[in-house]
Amino acid sequence: MQYYSLQDAQHKASFETAVIQGIAPDKGLYFPAQIPSLDPEFISQLHTYTDQEIGYEVIRPFIGDEIPEAALKKIVNDTLHFPFPIQKVTGHTYALELFHGPTLAFKDVGARFMAGCLGYFRRSSSRPVTVLVATSGDTGGAVASGFYNVPGVDVVILYPSKKVSTLQEKQLTTLGGNIRALEVQGTFDDCQRMVKSAFLDADIQSHRQLTSANSINVARWLPQMFYYFLAYKQMKAAHPRLVFAVPSGNFGNICAGMMAAAIGLPVSHFVAATNVNDTVPRFMQNGRYEPGKAVPTLSNAMDVADPSNFVRVLQLFGNSLPALKEKFTAYAYTDKDTARTMEQVWKEHHYMLDPHGAVGYLGLQQFLADAPELTGVFLETAHPVKFEDTAPKAVRDEIHTPPRVMSLYGREKNATLLPADYDAFKNWLMR
Ligand SMILES: *Cc1c(COP(=O)(O)O)cnc(C)c1O
Repeated sequence: MQYYSLQDAQHKASFETAVIQGIAPDKGLYFPAQIPSLDPEFISQLHTYTDQEIGYEVIRPFIGDEIPEAALKKIVNDTLHFPFPIQKVTGHTYALELFHGPTLAFKDVGARFMAGCLGYFRRSSSRPVTVLVATSGDTGGAVASGFYNVPGVDVVILYPSKKVSTLQEKQLTTLGGNIRALEVQGTFDDCQRMVKSAFLDADIQSHRQLTSANSINVARWLPQMFYYFLAYKQMKAAHPRLVFAVPSGNFGNICAGMMAAAIGLPVSHFVAATNVNDTVPRFMQNGRYEPGKAVPTLSNAMDVADPSNFVRVLQLFGNSLPALKEKFTAYAYTDKDTARTMEQVWKEHHYMLDPHGAVGYLGLQQFLADAPELTGVFLETAHPVKFEDTAPKAVRDEIHTPPRVMSLYGREKNATLLPADYDAFKNWLMR
C-alpha cells in the first residue's frame, strides 16, 4: 500500500517508509492512497472469526506485501493477546473496555503493533533507530512497554512534568534499558512541538535516525481500527445499529474508527467527546479551527489543543464539513461534569469510569438523548487506577489496583529534567 502526504498528494511513500519516517518530509501526515473495501461476507460473518483473524484481515490491505503473511500474523497475534470485553452500563449504553493490556490503557495496541512492524523492518539493519515520542500520559507507558528490549530500537519519551499521574510516570520512567524518559517543564503541546522540531532538524537527523511513535505514525494509528471491529463482533447479533463515543485528545483513536467505517464496518454515528480542550467541538459549530493553549484537566491524556489527527478525519470526508456532520458530532465537558459523572455512574450503575471514559460516557448520553433508537458504545480507554490520584473520593475508595501493576509503585523513577526549550533538548540528543 502506498501512502501520500496530506500536505502534498504527489509525495508518496511505502508503508515501510511511512512507519520509519513517521511524518512526511514536508510535515504532512501520511494517509493511505486507496481506501480498501472489506468483503461484506467477512463483516456479516465476523462472529465466526477469532480476534486475531479479524485483526489480520483488517490490517492486511493497508500493508500489502510489505510484510509477509506469517510475520504479519505474528505481529497481530502479539498485539491482540488480551481481551476487549464489552460491559453493559445502562439500558442503551455499553462500555468497550480497552484497558486490559500491559499498561492498562488502549494505547498498548497501537504501540505493540508499531513495535512489531519496526522490529520487522529493522531486522537486518546495523544502524539503530531512535523512537521519539511526546506523551500527555498514556502513550509513554504503552510505547515503553511495547518497545522494551526490541533490538535495534532506542526510545526517548518526553512528558510534561507534574501533569501525568503517579502510575503513568512510573510506567515510563522505571524500565531502563533501551527506554529513556525526559521530564519537560512545560505542557504536552511543548513536548509535541520539541519532537516535531527535532524531526525537521538536519543536524539531528544526520546524528541519529529518528522515527515517531505518536498516533501520527500509521502503524500506531491504523491498528486502532481493531477495537471497533471487535466491538461490532460482540454487539451485532442484538444491536446492529451502533454509535461509538470516543474520548478524544489527538483524535487518532476516533479517526481509526472512522477508517474502520470507511472500509466497510457498519456504524451509524461517531461522537467525539473532549474535555475543555475543545478545538474540534468549536470547529464543528463555527467552521473555524482555532487551537488555543492546552489546559490541564482530569482527563490528562486528552489535554491537546491542536489535535494532529483531525486533518485525517477531514480527509476521510473530502474536507467537507457538511459531509462530516452527517456521521460525526463533537461535544466538550468540564472537569466538574467528569467528576460528577464518575460518582453518579458508580452510585447508580455500579460501573467504575476513569476520567476519560467518563467524558466518552457523557458524549454518548448527550447524543443518544436525541437518537433513542440506536445503541451506544463508549470506549473506556484506561483503567481507573491510572487516575486514582484525582478521582472523586467516593470512587477512589473503591479502586482496586490490578496485581500486575502493584510492583511498579516500588520501582525507582529515572528521568532527566529539561526546560521546555528546543535547544536544551537538541543538546541532549546530540550528545
Ligand atoms: C490517548 C488517550 C485518549 C485520547 O486518544 P486520542 O487517540 O489521542 O484521541 C483517551 N483516553 C486515554 C486514556 C488515552 O490514553
